[in-house]
Amino acid sequence: MKLAKLGDGPEIFHTIQGEGVSVGAPAVFVRASRCNLHCVWCDTDHTWNFEGTPWPHEKDAVPGYVKHRKADVMLEIDPADAAARVMAFPCQRTVITGGEPLLQEQAFLEMIGHIRERQPEHQFEVETNATRVPSPAFHEAVNQFNVSPKLANAGMPESLRLNAEVLGFFANSSKSWFKFVVAEPGDLAEIEDLRRSHGIPVSRILLMPEGRTSSELDKSAAWLADVCRERGYRFCDRLHIRLWGDRRGV
Ligand code: SF4
Repeated sequence: MKLAKLGDGPEIFHTIQGEGVSVGAPAVFVRASRCNLHCVWCDTDHTWNFEGTPWPHEKDAVPGYVKHRKADVMLEIDPADAAARVMAFPCQRTVITGGEPLLQEQAFLEMIGHIRERQPEHQFEVETNATRVPSPAFHEAVNQFNVSPKLANAGMPESLRLNAEVLGFFANSSKSWFKFVVAEPGDLAEIEDLRRSHGIPVSRILLMPEGRTSSELDKSAAWLADVCRERGYRFCDRLHIRLWGDRRGV
């Protein structure tokens, strides 16, 4: 499996879930390398913005920002090795994130299998951009899908970021929670459209302000919380940004 690299090893670390419906829960994060999207504001661009790719990123405006050398940011390890590293932490919840984990569904299924052999109660969450339907075996193995379809603010054509079959699948799964990153009030019309078109239950939708610092989050948190109260969505902050800023591996 191809994981993001952190220091000399894979990006597997013990932290607190900072987003979504299980926010605050201690969890081991396993970060997949590679993504099939290229959101301009992606805060894990080391998983896909490799040298030689044409994708723009908002960090292009930051002096000194350059695309990543694959060898510096990607590591290939065996799923059994990843499982052993996860089980080294005193924690029974794992968040499989990325990048896009569903690009490596089979490898993660193997990793989950190794962990469940020793820890049958271990809980697995998967963060996905909702562009692929999981296989029945993967859907069965995972406890919770944190589904995050991308809006126009991600800077890609709709044909790339929205897939009706996949959205319909997750809308009908009791394991799904939908999380939308909201950058401005105009994003809300798009979310309403998606909700209506794909039958996503209001009670399963979380709205999260976009931002990589506490002050950026603060700019939209108050009005977004009001929107959630009025329309029945859940408000979701980014706890890890509040606690640790935009640092990797915490
Ligand atoms: S889908 Fe997620 S990991 Fe992929 S580019 Fe967008 S924000 Fe980044």
